[in-house]
Amino acid sequence: MPPRVAVVGGGLSGLTAAYQLSLDLPGARITVLEASDSLGGALHTVDFPSGPMELGAEAFIGRRPEASELVAELGLTDTLRHPGPLGPAILTDGRLVPMPVGTLMGLPSDVAGLSGVLSPGESAVAARETDTPLEWEPGGDVSLGRLVADRFGDAVVSRLVDPMLGGVYAAPSSGLGLRQVIPGLAEALDRGAPTLTAAIGELVGNRVPGPVFATLDGGYRGLVSALAEASGATVRSHATCTAIHREPSGYTLTVTGARGSWVENADLVVVAVPVPHAAPLLAAAGGVDGAVSGLSGIRTASSAVVAMEVDRGLDLPELSGVLVATDEPVPFKAMTFTSRKWPHLDTRPGHLVRVSFGRLDDDDVLTADDIALARMAESALAGVCGSAPTILYSRVRRWEDALAEIGPGHADRIAGVRAELADRLPGVEVVGGATEGVGVPACIGSARAAARRLAAGWQD
Ligand SMILES: Cc1cc2nc3c(=O)[nH]c(=O)nc-3n(C[C@H](O)[C@H](O)[C@H](O)COP(=O)(O)OP(=O)(O)OC[C@H]3O[C@@H](n4cnc5c(N)ncnc54)[C@H](O)[C@@H]3O)c2cc1C
Repeated sequence: MPPRVAVVGGGLSGLTAAYQLSLDLPGARITVLEASDSLGGALHTVDFPSGPMELGAEAFIGRRPEASELVAELGLTDTLRHPGPLGPAILTDGRLVPMPVGTLMGLPSDVAGLSGVLSPGESAVAARETDTPLEWEPGGDVSLGRLVADRFGDAVVSRLVDPMLGGVYAAPSSGLGLRQVIPGLAEALDRGAPTLTAAIGELVGNRVPGPVFATLDGGYRGLVSALAEASGATVRSHATCTAIHREPSGYTLTVTGARGSWVENADLVVVAVPVPHAAPLLAAAGGVDGAVSGLSGIRTASSAVVAMEVDRGLDLPELSGVLVATDEPVPFKAMTFTSRKWPHLDTRPGHLVRVSFGRLDDDDVLTADDIALARMAESALAGVCGSAPTILYSRVRRWEDALAEIGPGHADRIAGVRAELADRLPGVEVVGGATEGVGVPACIGSARAAARRLAAGWQD
């Protein structure tokens, strides 16, 4: 008998889980419960008068297989697009300095290339890394930021690593675990790389040539609708799940919508909401206190994106965007020159630009209303370009608690959560957000793996 499946959350993770379950459990009756009025979550394409524009994620790492494989399965490979050759600059000391080449997420493989961003004294500190023996416990995990600061000095963290990672994690790298954020680097150290420079150099040297990032022509909405359709799921929007209860046979989910509350029955449940929000849902089921505290202990940051189309009279720098050093006194954390970065978008009447705000423990700026945020974005752009832009169109979107801090030992924490759920709530899986890591490929991988576990458990 095919199972009834409830998927809580209609973002990328929930939709991918629904799709995978439809493949592995043909005939399953799958319902996706989505609190908002639309599917996709942080994949959110909107229509500017000149065409589609992303207000959430804009790309994915194409070198990881998860997203590219899913795109191919859904018949969307023809819509894949890659960035042009322009790189970003770092805003530091009021200057735009081109991002040094040969870095790995901002970690340098050759300190000699950092003279634009470091003072001679800071460069001398960083250069000592290769002469300082590295103590590393194979299999261990450490704070990424602290490791880099210890080895290269604080300036490399605040001017290179934090600006690079800030767009994805919103947390400073001091709170991020090396093994989850750059697993290849932890593995190179496990294999006995004598210094951090040697380990970074190994990864940079082994890079496959070709573009790192990819996106979809027409925007992420194409992936969202293809996934929803391929899953065959019944989608209920404006449907907020407030509790999951274990019953003698299966589960009931309490759901609240515009027209009141109702109960959904399910044999299998996928919880695909940002991890701290998953905790209260599981708490209602009872008996999983460790999982609940493990999930609610993951800190999150909120962010906001102001997307603009500006008149081409503005002298936009020949860059893909601007990353901001953490000690720079500006309110924004990154700026993407979207139409410079993606050649397929450089056909619009105006320049497309995105300005991002909000960092972990420093999101005061997000208390500003949308008009104030739009003005801040406009003046940030004017500051970078040296003259005021003429705004043709703009949209503001806030992302509450959307970016998780993946701290040292995160994988062990999630393994503990999974073990307790398997024991006490069989048939319930938590995916996405921060379970197997932040970002589009990680969410796809997490959701597919969880769906396969559920299907295998059901068929046993
Ligand atoms: C501004 C921004 C830019 C980003 N840029 C990139 C990028 O360029 N590349 C990249 O790889 N990653 C990027 N990311 C990260 C990536 O977008 C996310 O990791 C991924 O989309 C998360 O998907 P998800 O389905 O796990 O969660 P979400 O997208 O958060 O989806 C969760 C869904 O659950 C719904 N929901 C919440 N609570 C309930 C409830 N109780 N009941 C029912 N529904 C509920 C929400 O409404 C939402 O639709 C970015 C994220 C943000 C916020």
